Amino acid sequence: MLTKEREKLFKDLTQAAGVSGFEDEIRDVIKGYLPNNVKIDYDNTGSLLVTKPGLSSHPKIMLSAHMDEVGFMVSRISEEGFIYFAPVGMWWPHIMLAQRVVIKSKQGDVPGFIGAKPPHLLSPDDQKKMQDIHEMFIDIGAADEKEAREVFGVRPGDAVVPDAHYKAMKNPKLLMAKAWDNRVGCALYLELIKAFSEEDHPNTLVFSFTTQEEVGLRGAETAAAAVQPDACLVFDGCIANDFPGVRKSELPVALGEGANLIIMDRSHIPNKKMRDFAFSVAEEQEIPLQPATLLGAGTDTGKILLHDKGVPSVALGVPRRYTHSHTSIIHYDDYENTFLLHMALIQRMNEEMVKSFTDFS
Ligand SMILES: [Zn+2]
Repeated sequence: MLTKEREKLFKDLTQAAGVSGFEDEIRDVIKGYLPNNVKIDYDNTGSLLVTKPGLSSHPKIMLSAHMDEVGFMVSRISEEGFIYFAPVGMWWPHIMLAQRVVIKSKQGDVPGFIGAKPPHLLSPDDQKKMQDIHEMFIDIGAADEKEAREVFGVRPGDAVVPDAHYKAMKNPKLLMAKAWDNRVGCALYLELIKAFSEEDHPNTLVFSFTTQEEVGLRGAETAAAAVQPDACLVFDGCIANDFPGVRKSELPVALGEGANLIIMDRSHIPNKKMRDFAFSVAEEQEIPLQPATLLGAGTDTGKILLHDKGVPSVALGVPRRYTHSHTSIIHYDDYENTFLLHMALIQRMNEEMVKSFTDFS
């Protein structure tokens, strides 16, 4: 059920700032939700590693969700006090203009607006063009460069975060927020940590909240080296395409139709036995599970499955509409189904089961 407590968790996680490379704020919010009986570590990029020992030290199962989000970085301040910036992660310029942002300056949050000419000032030709990201600017209301730097504290290298608020839609199961990619995974893992702090499991769980996924799956590589997992469940990906204009040849992924399992993305193809194990558990438990492809991008899975001699890995998730924009939408029922699927999988991932994933004899 979407309780008030759960909505607070969603709100706290999605509204925290955490552009790739600047994950301090979101990491602190996640830490604030951890129970006392877990062990906390970090890798050297700042990924947060939370160990929950179970009935056996092996298999060691890594559960990996990235905590960073797409955003921007201040690159230059003009003499007039306008802020030029570089995208951090993949953005489509169309959806950036006329959006509110917050610059995380050393003197605190500086609200701003990505300026766009009104149609009155555009020629008919200009109106048809896509604006170049590198010509866009943020208006922070500074009188000039000196005020931007000295009074507002803005500097090249500051992170810029989309400014958008968590809100349930008219159908209260549809939830709008920034950064569902991948805070929905962080929320689900925090709830799993809580659930398993009161329940035994036949393995040891290491939840990793990784850094810098959006700029090249970086924290996943260092987190895997720190964890040394026997198997890995990744939470990410899962782009819903149930809205107008999507090619009908794409594998359909719809909100409210269940959890997702990525059968292929640009960084990985899952371990086949582990993938089939997940599908059969979902079927046995009557949990709806949609196969999904993510051909335009990769997930942390791509790095983790290549760690050392290889780690059997599968990526699961909740479908999201309009990802990599100021606001994306998820369906609460998918979240609940994905949670139930994780509970069922983890209880069955004992030493014998995990060994069978890599038995090629
Ligand atoms: Zn992403």
